[in-house]
Amino acid sequence: MLIQLRDIVEQVSKAENVHQALTILVQETCKAMQTECCTVYLANNDRHRLELIATQGLKFSGQSVHIPFEQGLVGLVRRSAEPLNLAQAQQHPDFKYFPKLGENVYQSFLGTPIIHRRQVFGVLVIQQRSPRQFSEIEESFLVTLATQLAVIIAHSQAQGVWTLKGRQVRSFKGLAASRGIAIGKMWWDDTHPDLSKVAPASSLDIEYDQEWLALAVEQAIADFRRMRKRFDSELNKDTLAIFELYIHLLHDPMLKADLNRQIEQGDRADWALRQVIELYAKRFATMSDPYLRERANDIKELGHRLLFFLHNHDKRESGFKDPVILVVRELTASILAGIPRDKLLAVVSLEGAANSHAAILARALGIPAIMGAQLKPEILRGKLGIIDGYSGDIFIEPTKQLLKEYRSLSHEEQELSQLVEQELSKPAYTQDGQRVELMLNAGLSADTNIAINQGVDGVGLYRTEIAFLMQHGFPSEEEQTQNYRLILSSYPDKRVVMRTLDIGGDKALPYFPIEEDNPFLGWRGIRFTLDHTDIFLIQLRAMLKASAGIGNLNIMLPMISSSQEIDESKALLERAYQEVLKTIPELERPQLGIMLEVPSILYLLPLVADKVDFVSVGTNDLTQYLLAVDRNNSRVSDLYEHVHPAVMMALKHIFETCQQHKLPVCICGELAGDPIGALLLIGLGYRSLSMNTSNVAKIKYILRKVSAKELAQLSQDALAKPYADQIYHTVFSYLEQKGLAGFIRAGKK
Ligand code: PEP
Ligand code: MG
Repeated sequence: MLIQLRDIVEQVSKAENVHQALTILVQETCKAMQTECCTVYLANNDRHRLELIATQGLKFSGQSVHIPFEQGLVGLVRRSAEPLNLAQAQQHPDFKYFPKLGENVYQSFLGTPIIHRRQVFGVLVIQQRSPRQFSEIEESFLVTLATQLAVIIAHSQAQGVWTLKGRQVRSFKGLAASRGIAIGKMWWDDTHPDLSKVAPASSLDIEYDQEWLALAVEQAIADFRRMRKRFDSELNKDTLAIFELYIHLLHDPMLKADLNRQIEQGDRADWALRQVIELYAKRFATMSDPYLRERANDIKELGHRLLFFLHNHDKRESGFKDPVILVVRELTASILAGIPRDKLLAVVSLEGAANSHAAILARALGIPAIMGAQLKPEILRGKLGIIDGYSGDIFIEPTKQLLKEYRSLSHEEQELSQLVEQELSKPAYTQDGQRVELMLNAGLSADTNIAINQGVDGVGLYRTEIAFLMQHGFPSEEEQTQNYRLILSSYPDKRVVMRTLDIGGDKALPYFPIEEDNPFLGWRGIRFTLDHTDIFLIQLRAMLKASAGIGNLNIMLPMISSSQEIDESKALLERAYQEVLKTIPELERPQLGIMLEVPSILYLLPLVADKVDFVSVGTNDLTQYLLAVDRNNSRVSDLYEHVHPAVMMALKHIFETCQQHKLPVCICGELAGDPIGALLLIGLGYRSLSMNTSNVAKIKYILRKVSAKELAQLSQDALAKPYADQIYHTVFSYLEQKGLAGFIRAGKK
């Protein structure tokens, strides 16, 4: 049977479309199981019924044939989500005769649910005229077939090629990357030069090719500078760093040397470019950290731009008369920059994730964006579409009703964003006068050109590892000093918390690979730096030197799990301090803090509180370690619940312990920048939150509209709930009451 199963799967997978696949499936299943009838029903949840999609053996003329969820044996299989194996189906109490189907000729019935990720998509049934009790092997055959079928259906649904009868709207789903709603004409653009299409070609004149390439590099640098300038007044410096990063990479001597070497080996400039860029991109693409994987896209984007200039294209003018929803294969910062803002309603990218630089840029520009949308772009051109950047939904040729709903949401949204921006420069006070410190999470770019963001009280987390990851070797003490000084001097009167290197785990250095079975439980963060005191001391000295005369440096240690790690780090910091003191006698001592992200430290906190000046809670890792859920694994992403009751309890415990020990505490995980999370945290007592730029204005606005006293009660209520969604809805209802639910949009998590 295994061979038959493989054959069916193979034949089905070769089908040109899903309907053909299902027809093949029912025919081949009948043959394999030597039975007369096989049928696929698909659940239409909107209409509470199972719809016949494909059959061999039943009456089916392609018109709508359906069974209500609560009726018949097929309905029972869906409800129980279990196989049902009956030799005499008519004798079962749930049996119901559907004259439309012409089932009366069949006696035996074997039905199995089609399940994908806990969701019952439909039911697969085989039937036979003579009474037959199907064997266990036959039953498991059908179950296996149903699991394969579930994957095919899930895939076609994601591609939008699956439409149930009665549905007029074509909808697709992608990753919500930049919030907002857009309604307009879709525009599919595939005209950007594609490096992957460059064919092998030899150089006829090596010197000429090297010059040709050098010129393209110069033009690309000038182009990125132009784009940077264009956005200077619109974007904050952190976001503009995307262009700086490209310019930085284009100046990279290693990249230039590799390109020239490739040409010297006899390859034409464009072919050399493709090979070198692909090699660089591969290094990043193999990293397990999603952020770093996306840096591969930056490298590829550089390649595309260089190719553009190599082929000496004229700068393409945007030919859009009216604003459009742009659909591209892969959204890049330069595509975004190349189109006037007033011509761009939203963007949909077939590739990429919500963490890419292009997505960051889209957020900063306030352009709704959906990434990783699985759809056939050709069918979209010129059609009217709705983009829901909150949920990742894309609707093509929507109904009047849907358009009306989205128009009113869009209107509501415009009003909200105007409101929020008006209050950005005001301090974050709650209605009952509680001051909340709002800090910035920075450093997610290799570039260090971060200017003062006037809306924040300082930098609560500066991630230093990216500069290490973008290089070919560990950055020198001097390079690091310059980097850190730029940041510290950008916030002369505000606190800047710099975290020491947090590599390992999912952030492996290309030039220092670490192979481990369980990298998240392995050589990560402080464990790595304490084993490499050379690297640690260089970084500490660089931070100290960078702070000379500014005095706003705070140093934070990641992944602390024991007292020894704090003691050893303090000893090394003291050593670095004494060394730097020799050249800078008036050097101020930085404050020292630790990240609370490994659960052991929760219990140790009372015993180590006097060893540190402050703590900061990394809810991203704390959640992953408390719930034993890999934060990067999409298979278990449903279990990674930001407001899981255990996480809430841990946060309550941390706050109370810090209070007892008079230890300043901040939250720097993603929870702090989430409206639901931020309200819960304030309710638990926290008064310092650090978040990404895009969340500052919104969180500040919300905090200015709520009362800390009410939030305390709300958090107390939430903490009595055993389920994450109950906690979520408790806070959501409060936001609704306050008229602030528009920031969350209809209960979307
Ligand atoms: C965290 O773990 O919550 C955190 C802020 O650090 P990172 O996301 O860099 O691990
Ligand atoms: Mg962390």
